[in-house]
Amino acid sequence: MAPLRTLPMAETYPNAAHLIHATRARAFAPRKVQTVSEFADKEIRLSKKGSAEPGPWHTDRNPILREPMDCMSARSTVKEVVMMFPIQMGKTCCAINALAYHMANGSGPVMVCLPGEVGMNKWINQKLNPLIEETPAVQEVLTSQNSRNSANTKEFKDFIGGQLYLEHAGSPSRLKSTSVKFLIVDELTEFAGNLVTGDDPLMLLEDRTSAFPATYKRLYISSPGVKGICRTDELYEKSDQRKYFMPCPHCNAEILFEWSGLHWSEGSNGHDARYVCPECACEIEEHYKTEMIKKGRWIATNPGPKLRGYHINALYYQIGLGPRWATLVDMWLQAYNDLARLKSFLNSRLAVTWEDPAMRAVKMNVIADRVEPYALRTAPVGVCVITAGVDTQDNRLAVHITGWGKGLACWVIDYVELMGDPADDMVWVALTDLLNKPIHHVNGHKMVVEATAIDAGGHRTEAVKDYVRRRLIRRPMVIFGAIPNNAPVLSKPKAQDINWRGQIIKKGVHIQHVGTVAIKNVLFGRLATDHEKSLEERRVHFSSDLQPDYFQGITSETFDPRANRFIKKRGVRNEQLDTWVYSYAAAHHQELRLHLHPKARWDELLEKYGHVLDPEARKQLPDPEPVNTGSGINLSGWGRG
Ligand SMILES: [Zn+2]
Repeated sequence: MAPLRTLPMAETYPNAAHLIHATRARAFAPRKVQTVSEFADKEIRLSKKGSAEPGPWHTDRNPILREPMDCMSARSTVKEVVMMFPIQMGKTCCAINALAYHMANGSGPVMVCLPGEVGMNKWINQKLNPLIEETPAVQEVLTSQNSRNSANTKEFKDFIGGQLYLEHAGSPSRLKSTSVKFLIVDELTEFAGNLVTGDDPLMLLEDRTSAFPATYKRLYISSPGVKGICRTDELYEKSDQRKYFMPCPHCNAEILFEWSGLHWSEGSNGHDARYVCPECACEIEEHYKTEMIKKGRWIATNPGPKLRGYHINALYYQIGLGPRWATLVDMWLQAYNDLARLKSFLNSRLAVTWEDPAMRAVKMNVIADRVEPYALRTAPVGVCVITAGVDTQDNRLAVHITGWGKGLACWVIDYVELMGDPADDMVWVALTDLLNKPIHHVNGHKMVVEATAIDAGGHRTEAVKDYVRRRLIRRPMVIFGAIPNNAPVLSKPKAQDINWRGQIIKKGVHIQHVGTVAIKNVLFGRLATDHEKSLEERRVHFSSDLQPDYFQGITSETFDPRANRFIKKRGVRNEQLDTWVYSYAAAHHQELRLHLHPKARWDELLEKYGHVLDPEARKQLPDPEPVNTGSGINLSGWGRG
């Protein structure tokens, strides 16, 4: 081997010094920080699998996406973004592009969370896998592309500078254990109210980024759902509420596209749909919109909150990327008379929440305005029979006392909450007192609660049965909410108690199922139409003594036509409504059957209570008969009516 010669560097490698300097300079130079849209324009290709226009991504093709996407850039000071978008508007593209950006830049752990496992798998197959296949910048940073390697599983990818977790809300234990810097939540609206563990899924997700207080980013995307329940809408309401304003081609005023501004002539099926400028009243044809959107900008309509909210609707679809205005009009016309389709059009195309038309009239303030001047615990003229409904909670009983009149018109006589654990006797003693106390009719008569339906669902089933067995009140009933939507108001009583021989004890406790959906439909239907009626014609009467939280409870649920059931609004209690429903079921008790009373029977009762007693007669009136403890439920009449 030749001896080593030491030579001045410049002699052997004339360019070495320059190369070393350049390399060192590159290594130490601050990284050129791109925005997500710059990155996407350079690196992202849309696959044939999931895109109407496969090929290189161009943010200019849909400029609406630029700002929300760029909020996820490393340099942006925005931490949290909610996008309430229609379907096909590219909201998931924003998430995918931001995800690719964070992976390619090695900027820390990332989580993508979907509401359920099916949705998550779909996301992996239709969004994530095509991204990895089509994007070398993402492929390069994956530490393994071998599916047999634990660094690359379906739901976990290790990459240089971070990890990617795919999770769903159906697996709360996993949701609790991961800490990430960047969180993407897709289909936010579909997240359940609470997880099986009782946790609020959104709070659980927010906690995931707590290890990165200064650098975290959260992106929530979804179309909205039912008003009062929809998390996307709730989050957007808290945000700075950005909307996309564009210059009118005729008057240059900055305007929005809103469904109410779209006009078409009757019978045209929308083929002549055009937008009418709210400023100059000029008609804007659809072909103008490409240019308008290009010149448009997002403006906060609720400036202040740090949370960024972006809302847009289907009128803004770029031509070629979604239905044209004419098609949207056609969809609207077809959906108009079909609640489920209308809901779907409003949620997924107009990106607005759905509110049942009947429910709009059943708003808390609207109903609270309808109170009538009668005192609680008195029966106004019209009341002929009184029943009660009881809901059992772990720390109290809620009691609704309802008066019934002709045609099952009803008066709220009282709503009371008795504190105490139903597993202990105390609260039942209070209930017995309350329900056995006579109720005074305004004409002087003494009335009693004729039947009481007590909910045995929940944790205190045995306590309810024990109480009913003791028969301390008139016609106590053990009830459970029926599961089917079409269940009858009240099922036949079914004997529950058996003797030591295993035989059914006829006089023992019976259970009955209550068709809560059917009853709520009846009661909400009345609430929705009552405001058009005169006082005498109204089907529901509320006392002016009722407190605001009573009305909040009565309107705590709303109808979802797609699910075809009532859903509880979040953050409100609904015992007021439940107990009202139970008292309605109690009116159907097999010995009362108020729903089958003929007109003549009501008239008879009305006459009896219509008779005004003078003070002397009132004094002599005995308290109503004590409870009949002997016979138990008389089933003889059942099934004949
Ligand atoms: Zn104009």
